Amino acid sequence: MNNTRKIFDCYVLPTYSRFDITLERGEGSYVWDSTGKRYLDMGAGIAVCALGHAHPEIAETIAEQSRRLIHVSNLYYNEWQGKLAQKLVELIGPGRIFFCNSGVEANEGLFKLARRFGNSSIPKENATSARSEIITAFGSFHGRTLAGIAATGQEKIKKGFDPPVAGFKHVPFNDLEAMREVITENTAAILIEPIQGESGITVASAEYLRGLRELCNERRILLLFDEVQAGHFRTGAFHSWQRGLNVDTAAGRASNEPKKRVASFTFLPDAISMAKSLGNGFPIGAFWVNEKYADLLGPGSHASTYGGTPLACAVALKVLEIIERDQLAKNATELGDFLKTELQKLHDKFPDVISEIRGSGLMIGIQFSSDAPAFNKGDDSPAVQIIKRLHERGMLAVPAAGYVVRLLPPLNLKRSEAEEAIAIIANVVHSIADQH
Ligand SMILES: *Cc1c(COP(=O)(O)O)cnc(C)c1O
Repeated sequence: MNNTRKIFDCYVLPTYSRFDITLERGEGSYVWDSTGKRYLDMGAGIAVCALGHAHPEIAETIAEQSRRLIHVSNLYYNEWQGKLAQKLVELIGPGRIFFCNSGVEANEGLFKLARRFGNSSIPKENATSARSEIITAFGSFHGRTLAGIAATGQEKIKKGFDPPVAGFKHVPFNDLEAMREVITENTAAILIEPIQGESGITVASAEYLRGLRELCNERRILLLFDEVQAGHFRTGAFHSWQRGLNVDTAAGRASNEPKKRVASFTFLPDAISMAKSLGNGFPIGAFWVNEKYADLLGPGSHASTYGGTPLACAVALKVLEIIERDQLAKNATELGDFLKTELQKLHDKFPDVISEIRGSGLMIGIQFSSDAPAFNKGDDSPAVQIIKRLHERGMLAVPAAGYVVRLLPPLNLKRSEAEEAIAIIANVVHSIADQH
């Protein structure tokens, strides 16, 4: 056991079951461990390092901005927060941005927005109490605070933390009728991930997204999207709902004329949470609120000490600038299609091992077969067993629930690296097929 692991075992809370790998440095799509072994990083954190590791321009931006101004409080204005907010609004649609530091905090903002909406929007004549309920989907993941686990539609994440934060209900994902049936007088909002990540990469259908919008309009409730994992050009569009609906957006286009583009929006949600790759690993979270509801969270209603700090915003602006300049949205689409095609071929060849390939752009789930006999009954989930085989062969990927392995590589992945990933995965699939 190496020394770092010994220190962890004594001093770090054991909330994570970690792989026995100590990472020391990275460069582009590769990381090296403490023994000098190199891994192709097809997880990029968990969809965090959109530009890979040790990107020279990001390192330079961090150094330069920290020599100038790292932090000022939100009692004052700072240029970078304003510019980043403007940029995000251009990429999404007319609205406003609140900055925080993580995904769950961004979701917490959506919950508070929904509560404010519910507190203020009941028609006076039949008002009994504020509307407060938020409906989410089974299999969802919305973060680990008390409200985050209440919103998350997975029992194992809630377990042992009773009493739960009140006001959350779950229904099956991609099932519009189930959603319609559960809405009551007390419902304030619906929250979904347009692509569910943690539970194994499940893409919302375009009909579902459109149906939810209509349903929310009909029942006068908010439609909230969690784009923390799927967002920020991972699917080829800025957000995955834009890719799913084929909405004409600024993806890949640089323009300073948001007004012109606004006319092309036929669909907008009411609020969206963001984090993960927004800062390429520098902590930043944000949520966008539709212009219609921009007044709900007024002065004094919400705050964050670190939110929208000059350093975080300068980094996020640079990330978006590089993604546009280097046409990484296009790269995500093309290499995503390449990976999916090659994985599909593997599936066709070994249907007893791989049961399905799902996802969009560089957010791909490989569903392994639940009855592949190679999986032993030990402590490790089948996904973890696959991941360990990938590690042996020099590749990192992220396990999801059950039998799913996720690929969430950097958006500037190279074609040769995608080919390398396929070769390693094929090697693992062969090793499992041989055990049949
Ligand atoms: C990771 C994730 C979160 C939580 O983000 P944190 O930064 O860990 O708080 C929330 N929602 C989704 C969809 C996620 O993937």
